[in-house]
Amino acid sequence: MNIVLIGAPLSGKGTQAEQLCNKFNLVHISTGDLLREIMNQPTPLGKQVKSYMDKATLVPDDLTIEVIKEELSKVKNSQGILFDGFPRTLTQAKKLKEIIDIDLAVYIKADLQDLLDRINVRFICSDCKKTNTVYSTVIPKCKFCGGELTKRKDDTKEIVEYRFDEFKKITYPIVDYYEKENKLFTVNGKLSIEEVYKIIEDRLKKI
Ligand code: AMP
Repeated sequence: MNIVLIGAPLSGKGTQAEQLCNKFNLVHISTGDLLREIMNQPTPLGKQVKSYMDKATLVPDDLTIEVIKEELSKVKNSQGILFDGFPRTLTQAKKLKEIIDIDLAVYIKADLQDLLDRINVRFICSDCKKTNTVYSTVIPKCKFCGGELTKRKDDTKEIVEYRFDEFKKITYPIVDYYEKENKLFTVNGKLSIEEVYKIIEDRLKKI
């Protein structure tokens, strides 16, 4: 089964993606993670990607689609793929349809205030780059690899507001797109991580 996970920044997409991939044995393809990796390489492409990521604006479609195609060419014998953060534009969604059949697009719906409330609890591991949600005042080590947790550079009020606006304008049309394709499943992102997970898990079991 091939799944697309849609949600504004801080909607909990990445966390859900990890758990769903473990449960259903899916390959996790996160364009955010892939682009961050490319950005850190000392190459012309790395520099180009960095210039967009530093501004927290979307990387151009052509480049992002190439990254996805390259990643898909490495996938062998999988039970399916979970796309996290891709597609993010209508052009990307249409292109994806030409490359692979999507069974379901899961949209984690949250409003701006929900997302702003999460800035303080989201940390990223400086080693394995995975997201950790931390509610305590003492910052622990990464729960996946024991590495140091730090804040993501783009987790500021201004950037989250900007990215939410960008999500509404540029990414939201793909929600309508998948609805018209009869592939949309919407989950209330105000619920806890566990509740959201359970709802998505139950739905995926029916595919
Ligand atoms: P994320 O980790 O999903 O929040 O993505 C972080 C950044 O990566 C975004 O602000 C964009 O600059 C870039 N990015 C991730 N996915 C895409 C995509 N599908 N299209 C264009 N840019 C993307």
